[in-house]
Amino acid sequence: MKLASIQAAEKKLLLQTYERNPYLFVGGQGVYLHDEEGHDFLDLLSGIGVSALGYGHPAIEAAIQDQSKRLLHTSNLFYHEGTANLALRLTEISGLDRVFFCNSGTEAWEAALKLARSHARLLREKGRKIGTTFLAMEHSFHGRTMGSVATTHKEKYREPFAPVMPGVEFVRFNDIADLRAKFSQDICGICIEPLQGEGGIHPVSQEFFAAARELCDSTGALLLADEIQSGLGRTGKWFAYQHYGILPDITTLAKPIAGGIPMGAMLCTDEAALGFTPGQHGTTFGGGPLACAVAIAVLDTMQRENMLKHIHDIGEFFKSKLQTLATHHDCIVDVRGMGLMLGIELNSAELAKQVAAKMMERRIIINRTSETVLRFLPPYILERKHVEIAINALDEILKDLAATYAGTASAGEKSHG
Ligand SMILES: *Cc1c(COP(=O)(O)O)cnc(C)c1O
Repeated sequence: MKLASIQAAEKKLLLQTYERNPYLFVGGQGVYLHDEEGHDFLDLLSGIGVSALGYGHPAIEAAIQDQSKRLLHTSNLFYHEGTANLALRLTEISGLDRVFFCNSGTEAWEAALKLARSHARLLREKGRKIGTTFLAMEHSFHGRTMGSVATTHKEKYREPFAPVMPGVEFVRFNDIADLRAKFSQDICGICIEPLQGEGGIHPVSQEFFAAARELCDSTGALLLADEIQSGLGRTGKWFAYQHYGILPDITTLAKPIAGGIPMGAMLCTDEAALGFTPGQHGTTFGGGPLACAVAIAVLDTMQRENMLKHIHDIGEFFKSKLQTLATHHDCIVDVRGMGLMLGIELNSAELAKQVAAKMMERRIIINRTSETVLRFLPPYILERKHVEIAINALDEILKDLAATYAGTASAGEKSHG
């Protein structure tokens, strides 16, 4: 079988960085992926929030085909047609002024960290008192490069690579007293995911986000909002920070931006942008013609089809169904999230693992994050019928597992009796 031979070859040839699920996908259409045997899988994860328009979307295919016949790469030594065009759209939807393009989430976050450090340096040169330390949040995730892991909370991701970038302190998420206690003129930036993804689908509180904004304003430190997972419509608004009416100085984008073609972007205010002068930051591939053309096609499609409203509506429907499910299953202890970035927390990590595996057996793709949380990041084109399929499957699986656990428990009682 093809899968088995690929598994064997990867085991021998690749660095062992991933624990892949034993499935081999060869194609996809809409919200379904197809495996080598022709089975359809309902994808409620979209490649971790990337394939936002699903698979085989005609607008994306057309953009790739058209651009492939013209130009794939120019380098940043020259102009091409896509960069300013895409930047204009991103600034219009974000409320920020300027864009730096790169190729991945972690690279966008690195740009944000470097910009905040450099911006603070400029302020110091003008005589302001401001230091070089970042405040980052507990349970945060910002990526795998040295700066990004330094601001990522989980020790497992940081410790093996010590020393990572120095100058980071962690604050208890949504604990305003802790934030105020750790904030000072040493701080050059506060790092927040408005809706934490890997950390288990936890939204920032209005009060905490507002306090962070106010503290930054008091010293000239920058507020950095990582929207790599939550941005570009995922939560029903273009940016999760727009649910709060709070504008960060810097935001980062990646996952869904070019519908599956790798791309990242850092957006910032004119003021923050002063932190970089020519030559201080750059990338060979960033903002290339292909990625820009596809990103423009993604944004065009979303705007033309009024997709934010759809994401909001279908997200509310999905969430209400999950809440109803929670009333029938005691093992669901919380339902969280906004738009199509949803999570349900179960009362056991082992149970969450089994549910994700049983969903996969039924050819429905979800994943588990933060041990006990089942995460849903479906394509934006999800419909009610897909939600119903998923909810029915979850209901049956949870009933089955509850019966199994009850069976084990009563068997246990018997053996004691
Ligand atoms: C995925 C993610 C990243 C890292 O993006 P990569 O493209 O994997 O480098 C950073 N921050 C958040 C919030 C993410 O979800």
